[in-house]
Amino acid sequence: MHRQGKTQKNNITDRFNKYNPIGNEEKNAAIKVIESGVLSQFVGSWGPDFYGGKKVQEFERAAEKKFKVKYALSVNSWTSGLICAIGALGIEPGDEVILTPWTMSACSSAILHYNAIPVFVDIEENTFNIDPSKIEEKINSRTRAIMAVDIFGHSCQIDQILRIARKHNLKVITDSAQAPWSKNKNRITGTLADIGGFSLNYHKHIHTGEGGILVTNDKDLYDRMTLIRNHAESVVGPMGVTNLSNMVGFNFRFGEIEAAMALEQLKKLESLVERKRDICYNLTTGLKNLKGLITPVISEDNTHSFYIYPMKLDFSILKTTRKEIVRMLANEGLSEGIMEGYVNLHLLPMFQKKIAFGSNGFPWSLTKNGMELNYSKGICPVAEKLHEETFLGFEICLFELSDDDVKAIIEVFHKVWQKLV
Ligand SMILES: *Cc1c(COP(=O)(O)O)cnc(C)c1O
Repeated sequence: MHRQGKTQKNNITDRFNKYNPIGNEEKNAAIKVIESGVLSQFVGSWGPDFYGGKKVQEFERAAEKKFKVKYALSVNSWTSGLICAIGALGIEPGDEVILTPWTMSACSSAILHYNAIPVFVDIEENTFNIDPSKIEEKINSRTRAIMAVDIFGHSCQIDQILRIARKHNLKVITDSAQAPWSKNKNRITGTLADIGGFSLNYHKHIHTGEGGILVTNDKDLYDRMTLIRNHAESVVGPMGVTNLSNMVGFNFRFGEIEAAMALEQLKKLESLVERKRDICYNLTTGLKNLKGLITPVISEDNTHSFYIYPMKLDFSILKTTRKEIVRMLANEGLSEGIMEGYVNLHLLPMFQKKIAFGSNGFPWSLTKNGMELNYSKGICPVAEKLHEETFLGFEICLFELSDDDVKAIIEVFHKVWQKLV
């Protein structure tokens, strides 16, 4: 995604500071854990240490408070979190889970890991999130859940999605890896579904290198996720668990050093997101008058946390191609962080060829629906057009932009647009 322009002489991004939310607070917290010698206290058998060490539990209680949920559970990555979530819902082999194609591959992989089948539903042009009006036509007797993603930092239409899910008796998972501290009608994005969560990976707003946070208000789902996180099968007996479905465990445990740092990162979340928001509002003020460039659209009653600054190109006004615009931006000094398109998961080779586990069509081969499922180009026209032609992103989370840096970015766009229209 980070492309290097051919003419590097005036690359303005070379001057930008890299984004780094880690400070002395995290450093001191990590050192304290190191000095204690207890870097993880998890034990994979039933007992008090089944739930992890002091810092892990302290972090989870702090996350519950911060996100206003009954239960928060730390994991070693948000990919692990998505796997826990699918497993906890009791998804069966051959079941179908509806999701957006405009997201990271971890979303569809988590579904496949339980031998369930991802069914893609197209996205909305403005928010890039799953289009609720296109969900119902994909629901059938094998459908069990909807996975909605709050992509780039903007909440999905969670109320509509929950309404559809309740009507058809489906569960909902939300992936807010890119949208921490984003709001939907004053409610915290990521906390409204059956299970939600956030990433603590290096590239995200707050991080601990690797890590993830699961959130839920459902005690049973919480219990099942704690089991999957820590070798479920070896503890279900002593713990008296009777529902054995999907109780094949993993080691998804979060470390004490990371948890200590995560506690400090959590305190900074709000101010870090607010700074990103300010930067992006300034970008929009500087760019919104450029003809044929569509700056981010934020739905009423929503706030954006801007993991990515998403733009669109209107080629009924711009008489050129995205490739040419990207080349011109690079020529004027803006190459790093520019995204030509994003992701169309349904077009990945694994879906085109239906090869996931083994080489012979599993898990699609489990059901007639799976065998017949169509992943061809054309099933998600909005996502496909954005990816191939009209989406232009800027990876705002790569940098710690000063007000001058923002001005420099705006200036590059203006120089290019003067030559365009
Ligand atoms: C980063 C990301 C993930 C994966 O999170 P990790 O912590 O890196 O495993 C999943 N979904 C989305 C939308 C992401 O941006």
